[in-house]
Amino acid sequence: MNLIFKKKSYNFKLSTKVNNSKTTYLKRSGWIIKLTSNDKQIGFGEVSPLLEEDLKKCAKQLNMIPEYVEVFNLSEQINIFHPCIQSAINSALAEINGKIIFKDNYYLDEIDKTAILLNPENVISDLNDIKKKQSNIGKSVTIKWKVALKKNHEEEAILEEILSQIDNNIKLRIDANGSWGRKIAYRWADILKDNNNIDWLEQPLCVDDLDGLTDLNKKIPIALDESLLKFPTLIDEWKGWQIRRPSQENNPVKLLRELQNKKALISISTSFETGIGRRWLYHLSSLQLQGPTPKVSGLAMNKFPNSFLFLNEAKKIWDQL
Ligand SMILES: [Mg+2]
Repeated sequence: MNLIFKKKSYNFKLSTKVNNSKTTYLKRSGWIIKLTSNDKQIGFGEVSPLLEEDLKKCAKQLNMIPEYVEVFNLSEQINIFHPCIQSAINSALAEINGKIIFKDNYYLDEIDKTAILLNPENVISDLNDIKKKQSNIGKSVTIKWKVALKKNHEEEAILEEILSQIDNNIKLRIDANGSWGRKIAYRWADILKDNNNIDWLEQPLCVDDLDGLTDLNKKIPIALDESLLKFPTLIDEWKGWQIRRPSQENNPVKLLRELQNKKALISISTSFETGIGRRWLYHLSSLQLQGPTPKVSGLAMNKFPNSFLFLNEAKKIWDQL
């Protein structure tokens, strides 16, 4: 199959910054790519590297892809490219081949359909706002708290306050982004191990401490995030929860198949993509919710600006970019 390859770059600013213990996200940059087959089928993809330092590498590699290319040659060529480029090309090919058929709407924008990120500077007041909204809708909601941003004793005091204020209708995810040592991680695991509100501790230890993570997972559910990006083979090996980011994986079709085959303990997460990449997030999230271990995704819905980049129709985004 012969293809025409086109790309356009984008930039946008999140509506508010997102802090974690390792980095701050505010400005996002990347590329939308478009593949057109000789029988005029179209597939879109998005190159959205999480780390800013990967942008240069991606730019260089994207410039190496010719405008007219045969599908086999393209698939061979991208094998050594950045995972985000592979993800974008494989996504677009999956769309052309009908391996994924998107719906017009997924209805994932209600507060009970996505985890809500607490502002680390205003955890308790954020929690109170969420509780008010929750009592209006009368459904269970999920909150996510990024830790290892303050001194541990301060965060343990906040944890105590959170636990005293939440009832069974609030689920809690705690994400250390790999910044705790074992001592602190075990303390938190001990505090939380019998708590019914906790979904999981996310990446409590650094990406490489797999022995520590495996041991902690016996005490309390542990979700791997950054470890999966560094060691993708863990996707087939890790027995606990997995935070999966379709735009950061070589081939999101693998993730699609896992969810179609009802693999458990997968949670979908945004990497702040535009409406193009978001189609995969929504599609995979809706499959996840029909699976054996339904949990809302981390879609950061309230972080995106009002822009054509977040329209539901891929073609409109492409045409306006
Ligand atoms: Mg995480």
